[in-house]
Order: sequence, then structure tokens, then C-alpha cells
Amino acid sequence: MRKDRHPSLRWRIVRHLTVFQSIVLLAVIALVVAVLVAIDIIQINEDDDTFEALESAVALDANDKLVIRSTPALVQLRQVTPDLWFVVRDQQGRTVREGQVPDAFARLEADLDGFGDASIAAAQKGQRASIRRIKTEAGPVVVLTNALTTLAPGKIAVVILAFFVTIVLPIFTPLVITTVIVTHLIVRRGVAGLQDAAAEAERIDVERRGARLPVAGVPSEIVPLVNAVNNALARLDEGYERHKRFLADAAHEIRTPIAILQTRLEALAESDDKHLLLEDVARLALLAEQLLDLQRLDRQRESFAAVELVGLGRQVAAELAPLAISAGYDLSFESAATAVAVSGDAASLERALANLVQNAIAYGGRKGAITIRVEADAAIEVQDEGPGIPPEERERIFEPFYRVRARTTGAGLGLYLVWEIARLHGGRAVALDGIAGGACFRIELPVQTAA
Ligand code: ADP
Repeated sequence: MRKDRHPSLRWRIVRHLTVFQSIVLLAVIALVVAVLVAIDIIQINEDDDTFEALESAVALDANDKLVIRSTPALVQLRQVTPDLWFVVRDQQGRTVREGQVPDAFARLEADLDGFGDASIAAAQKGQRASIRRIKTEAGPVVVLTNALTTLAPGKIAVVILAFFVTIVLPIFTPLVITTVIVTHLIVRRGVAGLQDAAAEAERIDVERRGARLPVAGVPSEIVPLVNAVNNALARLDEGYERHKRFLADAAHEIRTPIAILQTRLEALAESDDKHLLLEDVARLALLAEQLLDLQRLDRQRESFAAVELVGLGRQVAAELAPLAISAGYDLSFESAATAVAVSGDAASLERALANLVQNAIAYGGRKGAITIRVEADAAIEVQDEGPGIPPEERERIFEPFYRVRARTTGAGLGLYLVWEIARLHGGRAVALDGIAGGACFRIELPVQTAA
């Protein structure tokens, strides 16, 4: 089966925060750069290409005239910059120019000697020029050229990469690391309160009603869920109680007509039918009693007290000995310790043990020994030498209304009652192989540790 995948709150927050932060960060950086460019603090110039191209292109011809040679670099520059213009002037006042020099800068030509490296803006918007001193074959010259603002695609990529490495990454990396760590801590702390609620929810079972999930420490966003679960638990408790009350009342109510029926049957004249009917009524009465016992069990958890198993076993053995002996058995009691204490309800435990002994009497083949044994580790065993329980039936016989052979006098509730009593005490009931081939029933209870 495919396991359901649950999205992690932690990673969802990290993912969304990171995306949001990157968008904000990039927007802020773009805005800052745009503002800086607009107010001329950052100038996107590509003049270097022009100056580099001119360094090798400027030369003197045979007549000592300053000339521009069409070097490959210059040819390429002319291609990418159709509006390229420049003025080159050497120390002797020789000048060479190319392109349409805007009027605002043409005036500077004569005074170029007086400039160092400079970037100049004309009064007319958008017109910019750069001045730089470079060394050429024709000696040192001053170049006045248009400040280029278009970048080649390759250069744009390099600029963007440099921008990322020098500005975005140094800001973004610590931001992401901090986001992951802080989110992790916040979410862990935030959901810590839920661990208690989850642990409490794990402990809820049908026997433990009244349980509610703790709201303390639960983040306020999740409180409505916890409250809703608690309200649902309260409604279930109420429904369960109503249901239990009905069953208890029904079991109780059924006893009266059975008792009346029994009295009326007893008043009938002696006959075979009368005895058969009385047996049937006795079976009905037993069933009603067992149903009532089951209902009572539920309330007995609150009345748990220290119970001494050796004394309890001996008492049950004494009470049922006459019945066992008259049915043809030897009943014996053994104990591995002088006293074994458990916490529980003495009447229920007595009832469970009596049920097992009565079963041994009923199904033990009317011969051999029935042995009641109390172990030091708070286990009680009842063993007989009858036909035993086939291994494949050993689990099912504890189910309510289950009988190995349908036509027995019982209703199939006796062992279920034993199993419920053991469970109510935090223990269990099992059917095993008896030593002499018969059945061996064992109730294992938790030992009471000395406080
Ligand atoms: P019942 O009311 O029928 O006795 P139980 O729950 O006490 O119901 O027992 C369930 C079935 O287990 C019985 O019908 C019987 O067949 C079988 N059983 C119980 N105890 C023994 C035993 N000591 N030996 C053999 N079979 C047994």
C-alpha cells in the first residue's frame, strides 16, 4: 500500500519565505540600481572598448599625419556602435576624428590637452562623452568619444553574473541559512505542545473514558482542532454511557421475568418437561447474571485495592471443592509463594477464577484432578485432565458467545468474562496445554510492586 505523504510545514514555510525573500531582494536591488543609475552614481559605460580599439588603431602615416587604421577591433566596434564618434588629439595638436561629433562636445576639441580622464554630460539630455589619455603607436594622445550605453550580450551576462556573485549571493546565502534554521526552531517549538496532545490521544481507548487532549502549549491556530476533538470525545463519552446504561438496565430488567418464570415452573406438578424447562430457565438466569457482571466490571476499575491471590485461590478452591468432588474430581490447591499481592477488584478476580474452575468441572471429563495454582509472578492457573482445548480454538474460546460444541449448557460468556477481568486488571488470560493432557487456563496479572 502506498504511504500517504504529508507535506512538512517546516519546508513549506522555508520554501515560501525563500521565494518571497528572493523576489523582494531582487526587486529592492533592481530599484536601488535603477535609482543610482538615474542619479548618475552608477554609469553604465562601455568606453573601454573604444579606448582599447584606438590604442592599436591610432598611428602616424608617412606624412606624419595622425591616422586611424581599420584594425579588426575597430571594425567590430563600428559594427556594434553605428553612432560611434571620437576625436583623437596628440601633444603636437594633430587631430583625427570619426563620426558625427555632437556640437556640445565639438567645442572641447581645441582644449582637449587641458583635460585628464573625464566623463562629461551635455546640457542636452542623453548626450554623454568620455575623455581619456591613452598610449598609441603615435605616442600619447587624448581621446574624446561618446559614452556608450549599450552593452554587448556577453558583457551583459558577465555583468549580471558579477552582480549575483558580489551582491545577491552574499546577501541571499546567509538569509536562506537563517530562514532554514529559524523556521526549524520556530516550528519545532510551535508544535512541541502538540506532542503532549498526541501522547494523550494515543492513550485514549474505549476503557478510558473522560480523557481529553491538553490545550496548554498548543499553538492558537491549532486550538480549534484540539477543542473540536475534545468536544467529539465528550459526545462519544456521553453516547457510550447512554448505551452502557441501557445494556445494564436491560440485563437487570430481564432478571425479574426470569425469576417469575422460575417460580411458576417450580410450582408445576413434577414431570420430565418441568425439569427440562427449569434447566432452560437456569441457563437464561445465568446468561442474565453474566451480562450484568460484564456491565458491573466497567465500574470496578475505580474500586481497585490490594488483593492477595493465595488467599483468594484457596477460598475459591474451598467453595467449589464439594461441587468438584461430587462431580468425580480431585480438587487441589498449590501455591508457589505464601502471599502474592496485586492491585485489583477481589470480587471480579474471584469470579474469574470460579468461572475457570466451574468450566474444568463442566468440561474436564468427570475424572482426574483439577488443580488451582498461584504462581509467584501473579499468575493463576486452573488445570484439568479432560479433553483439553484444540490449539486452533484457544483464541476463539475467549470470544463472547463462542462455544467449542454448540450444545452445552453455557452461553459462551464465561471465558469472555475471565478475559475481560484479566484485561481490566492490566493482564491477560490464555489457554494452554495441561500437563496431563487436559486444559490449562492461566490468568496473568501485573505484580504489585512495593511502594
Ligand atoms: P460456556 O458458557 O459455554 O461454558 P465459556 O466461555 O466458559 O462458555 O467457554 C467457552 C467454551 O470453551 C465452552 O463451551 C467449552 O466448549 C470450552 N471450554 C471451556 N473450558 C474448558 C475446559 N476446561 N476444557 C475443555 N473445554 C473447555
